[in-house]
Amino acid sequence: MQDVRADDIALNGSSPRSLMTSPEPAPDEPSDDDVVDVDVLVVGAGITGLYQLYRAREAGFSSQLLEAGDGVGGTWYWNRYPGARFDSESYTYGYLFSKDLFEEWEWREHFAEQPEIERYLNHVVDRFDLRRHIRFGAKVTSAVYDAGAWRVVAGDGTTYRAQYFIAATGVLSVPYYPEVPGRENFRGESYHTGLWPAAPVDFADKRVAVIGTGSSGVQIIPAIAGTVASLTVYQRTANWCTPLNNAPITPDEQAELRAGFEAMCETLNTSPSGFLHLAHDRATFEDTKEERWAFYDKMWSSPGFSKLTSNYSDLLMDEAANAEWCTFVSEKIRSIVADPKTAEKLIPDEHRFGEKRPPFVTGYFEVYNNPNVDLVDLRRTPILRMTDNGIETSDGVREFDIVVWATGFDFGTGALARMDIRGRDGVALRDHWADGPRTFLGIQTTGFPNFFFPGGPHAAAGNNPRYNGDQVDFVTDTLIYVRSHGFDVIEVGAAAEDKWTDMIDRWATRAPSFGESSYYFGSNIPGKPRKYLLNSAGRPKLFTEIAKVIETDYQAFRLSRSSDPAPLGASG
Ligand SMILES: Cc1cc2nc3c(=O)[nH]c(=O)nc-3n(C[C@H](O)[C@H](O)[C@H](O)COP(=O)(O)OP(=O)(O)OC[C@H]3O[C@@H](n4cnc5c(N)ncnc54)[C@H](O)[C@@H]3O)c2cc1C
Repeated sequence: MQDVRADDIALNGSSPRSLMTSPEPAPDEPSDDDVVDVDVLVVGAGITGLYQLYRAREAGFSSQLLEAGDGVGGTWYWNRYPGARFDSESYTYGYLFSKDLFEEWEWREHFAEQPEIERYLNHVVDRFDLRRHIRFGAKVTSAVYDAGAWRVVAGDGTTYRAQYFIAATGVLSVPYYPEVPGRENFRGESYHTGLWPAAPVDFADKRVAVIGTGSSGVQIIPAIAGTVASLTVYQRTANWCTPLNNAPITPDEQAELRAGFEAMCETLNTSPSGFLHLAHDRATFEDTKEERWAFYDKMWSSPGFSKLTSNYSDLLMDEAANAEWCTFVSEKIRSIVADPKTAEKLIPDEHRFGEKRPPFVTGYFEVYNNPNVDLVDLRRTPILRMTDNGIETSDGVREFDIVVWATGFDFGTGALARMDIRGRDGVALRDHWADGPRTFLGIQTTGFPNFFFPGGPHAAAGNNPRYNGDQVDFVTDTLIYVRSHGFDVIEVGAAAEDKWTDMIDRWATRAPSFGESSYYFGSNIPGKPRKYLLNSAGRPKLFTEIAKVIETDYQAFRLSRSSDPAPLGASG
């Protein structure tokens, strides 16, 4: 595995302003005259980092955001491949902290496409005057804790001394390439969906390979199938794809959204999944087969994630119930795909619905009825190597002009592990987490005072911005609490971290366990510890635990002053 970012990101920006004084720096270190002092240093200009920047600044902290890319958007800056779009309803994904913002931005579609999302996030940045706090082309390469503050170095040569270091570096932000011998030998064009170029890629009349049929692969495949000369899809794992059911938002719906803003916020801010979809109150086998199939048809035609959140209440709890829904989806696939052999290849036979992140599609299965589209099952004919003009499987070589790698990400911990973060006594975060992440609430870890990572491991399960926003709100309220109590250092105690992490691991593997075959467990990355990387107990558990922290006056944390010799306050 490799960090594809390092060589790909252009560096820009001017020299930092001097805010500190100190004599005689080491020869290879920046002079302290070149170190910029801030209260809060945020890393990552995605939806989480931008909100964190906004909240920290509004709370009166001097704040700076560093971003490796040259623009705003995070996921929606890097993943600009054809067909990239939301699986969350646009208006439920956008920010809710400002009613004015909500009213002035009209989403065009229920599930917006990448360009619209990128425009929205840029609008937010300018609307709230955040751009002057953001430095682009500044990939953080090291962050070291020393005496109550973090010294953070970016690849553009800037160094910051920050009281609080907040990494909003995302869970799907490090593209992953599988180990394929000779990958660098391919002389045609080659792209990873998660690192897509800004200039449009011309697919017209090209022989194209797409490797991977996860959420990104199944979005790009139908988006380019009509343009290419030929399309060969290399599939390792068939996924339970169901229709996204996107549509433009009509003027009446726009008016309804505006009128219902408060009610929508209430639902989104309290929903376990962060979606608007209502839970169903019936279990699968309470209905007759006829009733079930009618209900499943309704699900099939329903928007996005509602197939998961509004399906029968026992869908994820009862194997037979899950199998029944899978039977229905399999029948649908067989009814769409004309060639029975291809249809069978597209039906998952190794995992249940919901075990892996379910992709949502528009015209995906239909693509396989095109005579110029071919599906290669990599379980039967694995890729042996890349040649200079194509891909060799155990079945022979096929030649291509363009290869698209839709092969996913180093999920959860990838970006944090690559930042060379060192806490107390120089301990590296990647060593501290060698057996998997250990956190409290998915926001802090022991031995790394004043370091927070909202939207990181042990975070969102569901509509990401809602859950990540809860974390940002809690982190910001925590910084305010620390400041108002006369402290400047906060570190979670070991007991709280152990309890939370044990709970995550226990819930992730409790019956009926889904096994460890998904990227939620890091299973797509060879050698990565198989530990659950989301909050397995869901959003309500986060709410309960945050309430407890507040009720108990932050007993889970140790609060101290950097000028004190020993920690003060409660110990976790
Ligand atoms: C194609 C795709 C579609 C998705 N669709 C949905 C959806 O519909 N609904 C949903 O809820 N979620 C979706 N997700 C998940 C998505 O990642 C989150 O919704 C959301 O974008 C996370 O925001 P974030 O700000 O936490 O992280 P990101 O958006 O990933 O932003 C992190 C930023 O940190 C920067 N960064 C990382 N390391 C460094 C470093 N060392 N130095 C400087 N900068 C750094 C990165 O460049 C990046 O810009 C999707 C993900 C992908 C890949």
